[in-house]
Amino acid sequence: MTRPRIKVLALGGTIATRPDASGAMQMGLGADDLVAAVPILATLAEIDAETVSRVGSHSLGFDQIHALAARIAALEVDGVVVTQGTDTLEETSFLLDLLLDRDIPVIVTAAMRNPALTSPDGPGNLLAAVRVACDPWVRAHARALGVMVVMLDEVYAAADVLKVHPTRLNAFAAPQAGPLAALVEDRVVPLALPVRDAIVVARARLGDASGGKESPVALLWLGLDEPGYLLEAIVDHRDQLGYRGVVLGAMGGGHVPERATPLVVRLAGIVPTVVSPRAGGGPMLRQTYGGPSSEIALRKAGLIWGGRLHPLKARVLLETCLRAGLGRATIAEVFDAFG
Ligand code: GLU
Repeated sequence: MTRPRIKVLALGGTIATRPDASGAMQMGLGADDLVAAVPILATLAEIDAETVSRVGSHSLGFDQIHALAARIAALEVDGVVVTQGTDTLEETSFLLDLLLDRDIPVIVTAAMRNPALTSPDGPGNLLAAVRVACDPWVRAHARALGVMVVMLDEVYAAADVLKVHPTRLNAFAAPQAGPLAALVEDRVVPLALPVRDAIVVARARLGDASGGKESPVALLWLGLDEPGYLLEAIVDHRDQLGYRGVVLGAMGGGHVPERATPLVVRLAGIVPTVVSPRAGGGPMLRQTYGGPSSEIALRKAGLIWGGRLHPLKARVLLETCLRAGLGRATIAEVFDAFG
């Protein structure tokens, strides 16, 4: 049987680190090194490895992920595995999901434990990612699955996966939707197909989102008794600051502190402003609470309702919409589809 052709694209991250003379871990390994560390890969797939960059994912940019998506879109292979750092994986994988519409598996993986430690997870995660990319069920449902994240023998949808711990091995989860599949022995066990209607709507409105200009989006987490000085700075100095949109990590089902509400409303009149749940995503309220700082009034005042997306993912979506040149009404429509 011919082995699937899998392209491995390495961006950097803990999975690609090695110790310097002082023992500090530095970016260093390339895609060939990662593949060479897992000899069994050659029995599963015809691997073609390419080092795209050697950077920590905390330093990746939107432009780099747009370039990566364009590269993946042009590949003639049976599947793609991207390796990178874990720190922004929940954002980069979602951006790839918004930009790509391929019928081959596209998988992002990483490592929490670096190669100098006992039992690093990078080799196992790379093996699991390639197994998933080669799996017949995954290949048959690749478009319906969208971009996937494989960590610690679980497969997650890019729109749902979150990094939920800064250091431990089981740092990834999809708290709302759960995993799409699990790896057991050498098998992929399917568990669910993701609901992708909102992604389909977003893609239709975004069109070809590549090539647009970067459109910085501020992410402001609203805590107890937030007075809103940063909101005021954006209201008064938007052009100097350069932000083209704002995501507010809001309380509960879509509430903001009452003392900051006039500024929140003014902000929404100046730049597209998305309200997203600071609880970590999850469907928001639309018509339960009254009062000036609750969802009914905020929605009437022109705030864009973020839907079930985590604020970090809402920020990625808003940047992508603004980069694509979408206006406020279309952006609201895109977010509305997320529930
Ligand atoms: N901050 C680095 C990165 O995201 C290391 C963390 C990691 O890979 O887990 O690339």
